[in-house]
Amino acid sequence: MSVCLSVSPLCVCLSLHCRPVTREVRGVCCGMEEFPLRTVEGLCLGTSLAVSGLFFYIYRKKRKSVDKLNEAPQFTLDGKLAELLNVTPGKCLQYAVIEGAVHPVGEPLRSQFQEGNVGVMQKLMLREHKLVWNNLARTWTDSERVLHQRVNAVPFNLVGSDKACVRVLCPLEASGLEMEIIHEKFHQATYGFSDIIGQYLSGEKPKGQLETEEMLKVGATVTGVGELILDTDRVLKLRPPADGSEYFLSTTDFDTLRLEQESQAAVWRVLASVFALAGAAVLLWVGRRYYRSLRVRWDQERLRREYESLVAGGTVPETGSATGATAEGSGEQETALENACVICLTQARSCVLLDCGHVCCCYSCYQALPQPTCPICRQTINRVVPLFQA
Ligand SMILES: [Zn+2]
Ligand SMILES: [Zn+2]
Repeated sequence: MSVCLSVSPLCVCLSLHCRPVTREVRGVCCGMEEFPLRTVEGLCLGTSLAVSGLFFYIYRKKRKSVDKLNEAPQFTLDGKLAELLNVTPGKCLQYAVIEGAVHPVGEPLRSQFQEGNVGVMQKLMLREHKLVWNNLARTWTDSERVLHQRVNAVPFNLVGSDKACVRVLCPLEASGLEMEIIHEKFHQATYGFSDIIGQYLSGEKPKGQLETEEMLKVGATVTGVGELILDTDRVLKLRPPADGSEYFLSTTDFDTLRLEQESQAAVWRVLASVFALAGAAVLLWVGRRYYRSLRVRWDQERLRREYESLVAGGTVPETGSATGATAEGSGEQETALENACVICLTQARSCVLLDCGHVCCCYSCYQALPQPTCPICRQTINRVVPLFQA
């Protein structure tokens, strides 16, 4: 045992539990080197594939809505549109693009902060800005929190030439609507000396509050993409498509809206491919490690065959016990013990490890070595030959 401990800690395991050790049980006993996937690698692989799948799903969805946008017919908003819909089956166009000026049906909304501004949709927001101490980065980082948000809307029409108009339904469900910011004011936080000490203790420094008002103003030009219907009251209406396609309202023109959506789809595609590549890299890494362990096993197999063919050509004291074979006299027994394998201490040393040339162990202990290195000098074993004593 003492020899063994000085040689390699893994030897303890081999000589205590795994005797007789064969090539097949070794991998199972001494570490999980035979198992191709480690927990961390499995986690990385799973996460990257899942994230890539999720991003690809978003990309496909976005791509579909971009394709639908590209196919959507554009109509000019005039008196002929109602006639066209009247002769269309179901009096409905599933996905159409129209453009018109915003006009309220009843009383418009008035701005709370800017006199004289009137609109049909209004978004009031109060955001708190503060600095928070980041323990990891050892710096103050900006942080923002919405304290209060309110959205108001009144029914409105899009008006085209010759007074033709389309009522816009459910404008809050539409995506892509960027309203004009008509009011923005920052209220700086004020604090005294005791507050400053409190801030350093709590790790939070308030900067102030930002008050904004956004509005879709009366008269603004809006592009709408959705389901166009001629209702029973002979009013044209634009509403979210029944087939689940994306409903758009935008203050930009149709081409800009389309390009925006295209670039968003491209971003999702890039993200999906980056994560898919990360997953592929993990797989490659696992494959490389597995190939290396296979190569080590092939090398060992080759050495074993070589050794066996050499043994077949001569006579080796491989099976003879170091003590049993020379138990005739006490003097001889001492020499026999000197000749015993340094690992098992029972069998005679029966092989030469090359290139170092050490004769230190029996062949079964050589086979049980966890790594192909000499137990005495740690040099890599390139060949092993039987020891013939004349
Ligand atoms: Zn041995
Ligand atoms: Zn050696």
